[in-house]
Amino acid sequence: MIIMTLDDTFDMESKIEKEFLNRVRDWMESENAKRGKYFHVSSFVYQCARKVWYEQTIEKEAVPKIDEDGLIRTWIGTKLHETPITDYHEHPLIAKISESDFGGRLDEIYEIDGKKVLIDKKFVGYIPNTMNDHHYEQIMYYAALLRETEGIVVDAVGISYFKPSVSYRSEKRYKTYVRSVSEEDLDEYIKKIHDMVGEVEKHLADNTLPDKTVSWYCKYCFFKQSCDADSKEFVSKEVEDLR
Ligand code: SF4
Repeated sequence: MIIMTLDDTFDMESKIEKEFLNRVRDWMESENAKRGKYFHVSSFVYQCARKVWYEQTIEKEAVPKIDEDGLIRTWIGTKLHETPITDYHEHPLIAKISESDFGGRLDEIYEIDGKKVLIDKKFVGYIPNTMNDHHYEQIMYYAALLRETEGIVVDAVGISYFKPSVSYRSEKRYKTYVRSVSEEDLDEYIKKIHDMVGEVEKHLADNTLPDKTVSWYCKYCFFKQSCDADSKEFVSKEVEDLR
């Protein structure tokens, strides 16, 4: 048996963590490569064309080097999505919108009492008291795309929230919220998708910065510093550091 010093074990700990993160990063990059080149629904849920513009321009080089916290969070979320619940599990949806492809993968479609319910699963730190607005936006984009691409009209949309905690404490770990959907709602969301994609395309073609859409999300936005500078030439230090 080799007797190890404290320094040896510290060194071992950091090598194990590094190896783990490297493997997760490799896996994540291969998943991202499979995602394909299209405007993804999740980019548009905060309804900010400027954020999508940044993703299409300066983020391209920075994305594979995402921070460790973000890496682990995305890894957990992706792994927890793996269990199929319905026949539509992880069903891809891509529509031609204006000059671009726009889409993503819906999570599940349940059939309950003859009604179709489109559901997105969210793994969260706490269970909200109601469906979050940006989650509603996202699921409505999918509902609109589903009708557009496959002619399937759902009767309702919903979010299933899960709190993936291993604590033994007795606590609420899941809750589903459902809202009914009309054809008019779907018309409204298809128009919204066309407007947003058209706006981003125009700014990409003109090489101009889209207007801000300021919301509660801005303080979490990766591009906040670049955005505050209000100049398309400015790249924040945090983005530059990741290049
Ligand atoms: S900080 Fe806000 S306004 Fe600026 S790009 Fe991000 S989401 Fe849009």
